[in-house]
Amino acid sequence: MKLDRIDLFDIRQPDRLAKAIHTQIGDLVLPVPVEDIATALDISEVRTGSFDGFEGMLLTDQARRVGAILANTRRGLRRARFTIAHELGHFLLEHHVLSSENGFRCRAQDLKETREGRRHQKQETRANQFAIGLLAPFAAVDQYLSEDPDLHDAQQLRDELDVSLEACVRRLIEQRSEPLAAIWSKDARVRYWHKSNDFCFIQLKQGDRLPQTTQAFRVHAESRSGFTAFSESPPMAWTSSDDIEIFEQTRQSPSGHAVTLLWADKPGPDDLDEEPDPYHRELGEPGFR
Ligand SMILES: [Zn+2]
Repeated sequence: MKLDRIDLFDIRQPDRLAKAIHTQIGDLVLPVPVEDIATALDISEVRTGSFDGFEGMLLTDQARRVGAILANTRRGLRRARFTIAHELGHFLLEHHVLSSENGFRCRAQDLKETREGRRHQKQETRANQFAIGLLAPFAAVDQYLSEDPDLHDAQQLRDELDVSLEACVRRLIEQRSEPLAAIWSKDARVRYWHKSNDFCFIQLKQGDRLPQTTQAFRVHAESRSGFTAFSESPPMAWTSSDDIEIFEQTRQSPSGHAVTLLWADKPGPDDLDEEPDPYHRELGEPGFR
């Protein structure tokens, strides 16, 4: 594979950088050959193995003339692929300031960092954004989307792209136009969630029990593994508003890990009650009953 780093200089935006690499590659090959890409972009060596104390490491200097990547395989090869892409992100995003004397040393926590904040966190977030853009380009994601949202699509994506199911669910949410959210849980306790911007506020916090009125909870209680179909769900179980319809689908593995996809649907104009008197609304006063 032949790639040209010159065209990639000065791109500071991780998604755009990943896109520019795919433009150079041309035809989409899946799963994305991340090691070949790294090698074609001045990474002299990619070494995978079982290492202590870090998930990934990039050995380089501030000028990024050349680099070497180490990726830990203790959490599986799929994870190592993501780590390689993450380290390549640090290498190509040249404004990233080295986090250790001779490069970057990234911990497991860094590879799931999605908060913005201090420079270190920001750099980790950007490297993760680059990695997902490189391994799961939207052009590839599009090929596997069904007409309606469906967790089966995320699983198929995982197998085709060789990227974690979690990343594929996030990608599906980002790419689809419907208001969607995903709740990850273990033994019916919420671990974290991710939602599209137009999905309403989610009330659940890490460690909360899944609401007992939901299909997701029943799937746990009955120890069912595999996929459910979408079914209507009480909106107040998940959100603070009751004027929407929510449908939920769960995939649970035998280990008790589950992901629940929520799909919100605002009622159409015919379903809404008559608008309250705009005069009262303007005054900021509740309408008369
Ligand atoms: Zn990192």
